[in-house]
Amino acid sequence: MKIDLFYPSQVFIEKEALKYSFTYELVKKFEEKNIPIIEEGIKKFTKEMNEQQFFAFSKRSIILGVNKTKKFESCKPSADYQFSLVSGCPGTCEYCYLQTKHACSPYIKIYVNLNDIFDIIQDYINNGLPKTTTFELASTSDPISVEHITGSVKKAIEFFAGQSNGKLRLVTKFSSIDDILNIEHNGNTKIRFSINSDYVINNFEHNTSSLSERVTASKKILEARYNTGFIIAPIIIYEGWKKEYENLLIKLSEELKDYISVNITFELIQYRFTLRSREIILKRFPKTKLNLNEENLLKKWGPYGYYKYVYPKETSNEIKKFFAEVIKKYFPNATIEYFT
Ligand code: SF4
Repeated sequence: MKIDLFYPSQVFIEKEALKYSFTYELVKKFEEKNIPIIEEGIKKFTKEMNEQQFFAFSKRSIILGVNKTKKFESCKPSADYQFSLVSGCPGTCEYCYLQTKHACSPYIKIYVNLNDIFDIIQDYINNGLPKTTTFELASTSDPISVEHITGSVKKAIEFFAGQSNGKLRLVTKFSSIDDILNIEHNGNTKIRFSINSDYVINNFEHNTSSLSERVTASKKILEARYNTGFIIAPIIIYEGWKKEYENLLIKLSEELKDYISVNITFELIQYRFTLRSREIILKRFPKTKLNLNEENLLKKWGPYGYYKYVYPKETSNEIKKFFAEVIKKYFPNATIEYFT
């Protein structure tokens, strides 16, 4: 089913954001749509709510704020560093790792101090010379989900187009990419689409673009000569998984038959959960079909300071072998960047 472009039900403005002209551009857009603008903190409105009400209200709320981060976190294996122009996302994927990372702040925060952020990126690029430094833009949000409101991704792509030693990467489950098709990118941005089997998309990826919308968007991105890739994540094992994932690759290869000589990349990430995420997921999605039972899974230390539960070695090897074979079969010129 096609989803409408997201617009919030209410917008909150942090005091510091009032110093930036971008705030006023955004406010104008919201006013044109008659969206209430509130110059107060969101907490005042959510403090009496239960978890589900709080989550639903937050996912319909945008906050205009200032990103004060001066030091970027690393982002292995995808890129050297990560930065944010937006945090949070109107999508409601049940497994989303932001359930834990942004447990208390599931709203969508748009950062209005873009030039400050670009200055910090420039410092990182300069300090990394003569090497090329790569940056991930989608680790705390899906910025394409609100690009029709912000235009921030477009500005980031144009910033990186002028860099000789900086590369940008982002990933999305949304298809509203038309505004970034006819801009200068200079081959310095890579756009990946997150795709999955019908079972995973239908059961767990609510309020995101459909698979066919994502694939159509990926064709436009290829046509615009961006470096293009796909992330299959999370790879979930269920009855009939091999057949469904193979069907996904068949469908994708048929759609992309005109681009078969292009070096498309795949990133493969297996399903995992933490005890902290389980607690939150069960409160927000009490009827979830996600397997949150740690029995038969492997406990591993995760980079965010939590133990995570992942498929045991034997299953993981089987998944890895399966995807290596089917990707080679349907995308002989593709590269698998990593499997984790
Ligand atoms: S689209 Fe991405 S960021 Fe948004 S909820 Fe889904 S997994 Fe999380």
